[in-house]
Formats: sequence, structure tokens, C-alpha cells
Amino acid sequence: MIDKASAHDRGRIPQRIVKPEVSPPTRPNLGDYDAVRAAFSWERERERLAGLPGGGLNIAHEAVDRHLGSARAERTAIRWIGRSGARREFSYLALAAATSRFANALRSLGVQPGERVFVLMGRVPELYVAVLGALKAGCVVAPLFSAFGPEPIATRCEMGDARVLVTTPELYRRKVAGLRERLQGLRHVVLVGDDAADGPGVHRWSTLVDAASPTPSTAATTSETMALLHFTSGTTGRPKGAIHVHGAVLAHAVTGRYALDLHDADVFWCTADPGWVTGTSYGIIAPLVAGVTNVVVEAEFDAPTWYGVLQDEHVNVWYTAPTAIRMMMKIGADAARGHDLSALRFMASVGEPLNPEAVVWGIEAFGLPFHDNWWQTETGGIMVSNYAAMDIKPGSMGKPLPGITAGIVRRSAAGHVEQVTAPGVDGELALRTPWPSMMRGYLGEDERYRKCFADGWYLTGDLAHVDADGYFWFVGRADDVIKSAGHLIGPFEVESALLEHPAVAEAGVIGVPDPTVGEVVKAFVALKPGFEPSEALNRELLGHARKRLGAAVAPKAIAFRARLPTTRSGKIMRRLLKARELGLPEGDLSTLESDER
Ligand code: AMP
Repeated sequence: MIDKASAHDRGRIPQRIVKPEVSPPTRPNLGDYDAVRAAFSWERERERLAGLPGGGLNIAHEAVDRHLGSARAERTAIRWIGRSGARREFSYLALAAATSRFANALRSLGVQPGERVFVLMGRVPELYVAVLGALKAGCVVAPLFSAFGPEPIATRCEMGDARVLVTTPELYRRKVAGLRERLQGLRHVVLVGDDAADGPGVHRWSTLVDAASPTPSTAATTSETMALLHFTSGTTGRPKGAIHVHGAVLAHAVTGRYALDLHDADVFWCTADPGWVTGTSYGIIAPLVAGVTNVVVEAEFDAPTWYGVLQDEHVNVWYTAPTAIRMMMKIGADAARGHDLSALRFMASVGEPLNPEAVVWGIEAFGLPFHDNWWQTETGGIMVSNYAAMDIKPGSMGKPLPGITAGIVRRSAAGHVEQVTAPGVDGELALRTPWPSMMRGYLGEDERYRKCFADGWYLTGDLAHVDADGYFWFVGRADDVIKSAGHLIGPFEVESALLEHPAVAEAGVIGVPDPTVGEVVKAFVALKPGFEPSEALNRELLGHARKRLGAAVAPKAIAFRARLPTTRSGKIMRRLLKARELGLPEGDLSTLESDER
């Protein structure tokens, strides 16, 4: 391992971004990390939720109807900004009525609690109404990316036994109509939009939902009732369906408060699509549970639009992802300067390691650092985080959420693990079970689920270490880690070093088999505008990396690419870079968003 602290010394990245001692005008919800952690109890946090009138717990009730008796009822719950600039706003009151209509519409079709409702749409308001309405009806919601092609849609609908699909006429005609023979269990399709499309059990939203009663009648779900089904792609083959329960809302409430620092009257914007778990947990549930105004932007990433949204909507808390931040960095901090971003108070990032360079760039462009946090589909909510009042060590994911115990373990004998207690030593990131948003299963794959647990730990499949101050540092997906001449090399640290070079916009690093050292490090690099691939630049980057990382860790080869392959949730697909480099099968590409080709 390279010594990250000394690597930072050599660059211009500070080891620690110290948070001010004097409280800023909006006091962070989590002031003293150690004190909040010591006093934390999930039971007490549970008492802050409303629960259903007859007992039980329902995500949609906590997110919407619970606010109706308070001043929040009239506040904007969802502020939608359409692709062409159209806007729609739902107060909590209006959202409560709309979601009850959807729940009642499902009932009018004979759809039963526990049945699966799939949503396949861009980020339009009906998506949010359908997700929350289906939860009210006690159905299980499975959000899909609207960009999925017919095959990934079919596989997931089959795996999840889709009973209802909510989509648009256009998506239906292009992608779903041809699958109806195959998807016998799919009884109802609800189409959002005025175009006609026909088929068995096809209903129009405007006739079915708008005509339904707005009378609330939330199903009697409990904290253990299945609520959400999130598909996450394995490295190859079939995706896994992670099962989440209504009790997860407790983790959404706590992480909204502590990790995202949501305050009562905030305007919040999560850029993730609900097809990815972040876009559901934090693009729908957590902000509404907190009672804030949740901004939804239909358009895909485009830097000028994004700066415009941050300014015009007076966004206070912004949750985004490293790929987007790197794309903004590519254009340069000047693009931010023409905007009034004074409402912005807290910025967070998730999905991939956040390079130290990006944390610091946040300060340059926005006057605020980005706060990295870590979680995965299986954990249901943020587990390790940088907090508003806690010093940041750029490159670190931060510390475990109060109520969560994280550790570094090594797998020993079958089914057992040993905890690594020494600081700085790499091992697998593990979480003490249980916690409210822990997945409750992989759909139909009990054995695969059981293998994720050992000796009271959930094993994340990520490698990390913890430093002497209790900060966690991501090393890499266990699958992506490179073993070279006895060194274990995480692609992240190599990519971060490359990103420090002014020419580099994106970097993806893999191990290429080598008869002498096991694997050698190879980097794929996309350049910033104004830089062209050349032999000289290649040599310069190799030299830069060697200086930063040392010869054992630095890449031996660099290949230029116009862009890197990324998933729809913005993750660099290192396994695809590797498969192509080695001429191996490319595996499941259903989550591929942009490609290098
Ligand atoms: P997903 O389930 O698709 O959200 O992917 C989860 C995986 O993304 C994690 O297991 C990590 O490998 C990666 N990931 C998410 N957040 C971070 C982060 N802050 N730092 C490093 N890796 C992350």
C-alpha cells in the first residue's frame, strides 16, 4: 500500500479540511460525532417516526401523510423541472391525495398487497406518485432504469414476478409490447401520457388514476413487510434482486438528518435516477421523510443546466456522484462562478470513490467541500459518511453512521472472519448486523444471501482500511483489486493520482496478467478539453504517476480513450475495460450507460 498521507503531502491536497469551530448560521444536525454516536439508539430514533395509526410502519406514510397535520402540509414536497423547462409542484397535501389515488387505483384493479409493481419511466412526477402510491397499497416496488432495453426489462420482470408495470406509451411500444407473451404474470400496464397504446390489461393513467378516490387507506404493513426490490447487477450473468422492507425508512430518516444534514425548510436535490437505489432512498424517501422540498430534474447531466438548477432553485443540500463532479471539473470551476450559489450549504457524493482532487475542487468552485459517503444497494442507506461538522480527510469515506458499527475483516475458515484491528491494514469492509435498512434477502437466492454474512458481520465485498482516527478509506471492490509483485493495489489510489494531473478528466485502472509479477497496472485515461493524446503526454503521465505512487504501484501502461465505459449510476466499469483488454466475454451490459466506443 502507498502511504496516502505522504502521497497527499507531495501533492497540493491537504490531509485534513478542518471544519470551523464557530457554528455556521445553520447548525449541523450532527455536531459532535463521538457524542452523538455514544448516545445513539435506534429505538429512540424509531419513536420520532409516526407509525401507522393502527401500529405498523409504512414508508409512504412516513414520507407523505405523516406531514399533513403540521405546517409542512402546504409546503412543496416535489418540485419537478421538466426537460423543456416545464415545472410542476406538489405540496405534501397534493402528494398525499395523488398517492392515495394511485393506491386506490391499484386496488380497483384487484392488485393485492405484496404484489410487485414495476416502474419504467424517466424522472416524471408520475414516477414518484406511483412509487409512493404502490407502497401505500402495500405492494412491492421495483424501479427500473427507463434506458433498459427489452431483455434487461424482461429478466427483471420475470425474476421479480411483475404484476403491474407503470410506463409511458412510447416505452411500452418500443420495449414492452413484444414481451407480453413472455411475461404472463404481468396483468396490468399503466401508461402515463396521452398517446394511445393497446394491449391486454393496458390502462391509461388519466382514466384509471385520476378517476380513483383520494381517500387515504394505507395498507397495514409492518417494519418487516417487503417494500422495495432493487436490482443490482452482478459482475456477470443475472442481476441480483435485493429485498428491502418498510423498516428501512428508519435508516432513511436518520441518514437524511445526520449524513445529508437535512433541515426543516431545506431545498434538496439528489441527482440520481430512481432506477439506482440512491435515486429511491435519497431521491424519493429520505427528503420527504425529512419534510423538505425535493427537487426532481428530468434532464440528464449537462453542466450549464445543473449550475442553473442549483442557482435558480436555491438548492441548500445537493447529493450527487463522482462522475458528474468529474465532468464539471472537466469544464472548469469558472463555469460555477457566474452563478449565485449562496444558498448551497452542504454537498455530498456517493457511488464511487471520490478522488481527493474532487473534494478540494468543490471548495474552489463552490466554496464548499464535497462530503463523500459510502453505501451499496444491499445496505439500503448511507453507512459511512463525512458529516457537516466533522473534519474531512480528502479521499476518505468518513466514519460509520451513529448506530452502525463498521469494521475491517479478513475471511478465514469457511463461514468465519477475523477482525483486523490495526490501523491502515487493508481488509474487507464489514458491518455489524442488523440495522433497519439491511437487505432481507436476494430474491430467490438464499444461498447467495447467506454467503454475505459471517460471525455477525455483513460482508460488503469492498476492500478498505481504517486509520488511527477512525476514518475509513476505500481501496477497491474486491473484484477490482490488483495484485502486483506482492502488492495489493486498489485502482482508486492510482486513478486519484492520475486525476491530479491537469490533463486528466477520467481514469480507470485494471490489472493485466503478467507472468513475472502476477499482474501489472494498466490505466485508461480520458483527457480534458484542450489536451490531445500523444506519446509525450503518455510518458509525462507515466512519470507523474511514478512520482506520486512509486514504481511498484504506478501504471506500466496508459491507453487514451475519448471516454470511459460507465454504468447508469456513474460507476467506471473496470471489469469491462479488463474484459476488452483480455479479449474475454463482456458479460452483462444492461447497466452500461456510456461506452468508450
Ligand atoms: P451500488 O449497490 O450499485 O450502489 O454499488 C455499491 C458499490 O459502489 C459499493 O460496494 C462500492 O464498491 C461503490 N461505492 C459506493 N459509494 C462509494 C464511495 N463513497 N466510495 C467508494 N466506493 C463506493
